[in-house]
Amino acid sequence: MDFTKLFSTLSLTGEDIPPRSTTRPTRKPKFVKFLSGDNGEGMPETFFEDPRTFKPKPGPHGQIQTWGIFPYNEDNIWDYGPPIFLRQASGGTPWPENQFMNVLKDRKREQLSKLDLADLDKKDVVIKIHLKFLQDANGDPRIWRRVRLSAGMKIGVFQDKVLSPILNWVRNLHCYTFTDLRDGAVFGPDDANATDIMHINQVGYVYLPDDKYMLAHLFSKVGDTFAHLYDYGDKWHHEIEIEKIFPVEESYGRVQILDGKGMCPGENMRGSYQYQNFLKAYDTDSYTEQVKKKREILDCPNYKGFGKPPSLFDIDAFDVDQANERLSAALSSPNSVRAGMKAFTMPINPSAHDSRTGKLKKGQSIQREWDHESHGYWQETTSSTKDKRSQSACAACGKPGGQDLKTCSGCRAILYCSAEHQKVHWKDVHKKQCSRKYLKK
Ligand SMILES: [Zn+2]
Ligand SMILES: [Zn+2]
Repeated sequence: MDFTKLFSTLSLTGEDIPPRSTTRPTRKPKFVKFLSGDNGEGMPETFFEDPRTFKPKPGPHGQIQTWGIFPYNEDNIWDYGPPIFLRQASGGTPWPENQFMNVLKDRKREQLSKLDLADLDKKDVVIKIHLKFLQDANGDPRIWRRVRLSAGMKIGVFQDKVLSPILNWVRNLHCYTFTDLRDGAVFGPDDANATDIMHINQVGYVYLPDDKYMLAHLFSKVGDTFAHLYDYGDKWHHEIEIEKIFPVEESYGRVQILDGKGMCPGENMRGSYQYQNFLKAYDTDSYTEQVKKKREILDCPNYKGFGKPPSLFDIDAFDVDQANERLSAALSSPNSVRAGMKAFTMPINPSAHDSRTGKLKKGQSIQREWDHESHGYWQETTSSTKDKRSQSACAACGKPGGQDLKTCSGCRAILYCSAEHQKVHWKDVHKKQCSRKYLKK
C-alpha cells in the first residue's frame, strides 16, 4: 500500500488537527516498525521515540493526560484519525502507534502488579466529582457531587453503578476513560462497543481494563485527583478529587451521597466546551429563552423520566432523593454488559442481528425498548446472572465484593455483603424485582 499517495489525497486541515509535517520525516523511529510503503507521514512525533524509556509529558497544570504522549491541550484534542485509520485498515503487523502504546500499557501493568496498596483498598474515601469547565459566578464548579465509598471498588463498577447514576448520565450508553493524572495511565471498559469507540485515538489509543483495577489504583493520598472522560465523541471532562481517607477500622464500604450541586448536562449536548457556552448564554437569557434551553436539556435521554414541565427544572439544583433512587436501582442490578452498550436503532429490519454485538454469553439477552417519539428503539445487552464476585458490590450498600458476598437464594443474580443487608433490601427493594418472588410470601 502506498501511504504517501493515500495521505496526499486526504484533506488533513481543520481546526482539530495540529500542524504536521507533510514532507518525508528525516529521522527513523527508535522502536516502532512501519509497514512497507509507510514513511511515517502524519505520525505524531512521540511515536518516533522509544516507548521502553519514554517519559510522559505533563500538561500545563502538571497533570499528565492520555499516557503523556502528546503535549496535551484539552481545548484542542488532536485528531490523527485519517492516517491512523489507514494504518489500521492495512492489516498485518500491529500499526505503529499501537506497537508504541502497547509497550506503555505493558510497563504500567507491570508497575501495578508490584504496587503495594498498603490497605488503601480497604479504606473508605470521600471524593468530589465535578464537571470541568462549568463554573458558577464565583468560578467554583457548577455541577458536582460529593460521595463516600470504598477505594476498593473496581473502576468499572464505580463508573456503572455510582458515578453515572449519581450524576444522571445514562448507564452503558457511551465509552469512557479514567486517567491516573500522576503518570497519564488510562483505564477503560474492555469490549466497549458504543459508536464513539471510533474516536479512541483521541483519548489515548489503548487502556488497561477497568474491571481489573480499583479506585485505589488511581491515587494514593488526600488531594490527589484523577480524570474521567465520558463519551469519546462529545467529551465530557470530569475531575475527581480525594478529600478524605478513613482508617480501615472506620471504613464500612457503604456508598453514600453526601452533597452535590447542579443538574447533569443533557446527554446529547455535545460536550463540556459546548455546554460551557450554553450555560453562559443561559445565565443572561430571558425567561422564555431559559425555558427553551431547559426543554432542550429535558429532551435528552438522561432526562426521559423527569415528568414535569421545563419551568420546574432548576439547572443549579441537586435532588439528592432522585440521585439516591438511581444509585439504589443501579446497585441492585447486574453490571452493565459493555459488549452490548445501549444504542438507538431505526427499525429497517428490527429482527436483524446487531452487528456490534458478538455472541451472547450465558444469561445475556438483548433488550429492546421502542421509543414512540423517535420512531426507533433502544437496544442493549443485559445480563441476568450474578456479577463476578471480583467485580461486584453489595446490592444494598455498595460495599465492594469479595468471596464472602452472599447470593440471593431466589434469583441467584444479586449479591449481598451480609444477611442483614439482604433482609433489609428484600423488604425495601428486591421483593418486587426478584425473579423467584413466588418462593417467598
Ligand atoms: Zn451491604
Ligand atoms: Zn433475588
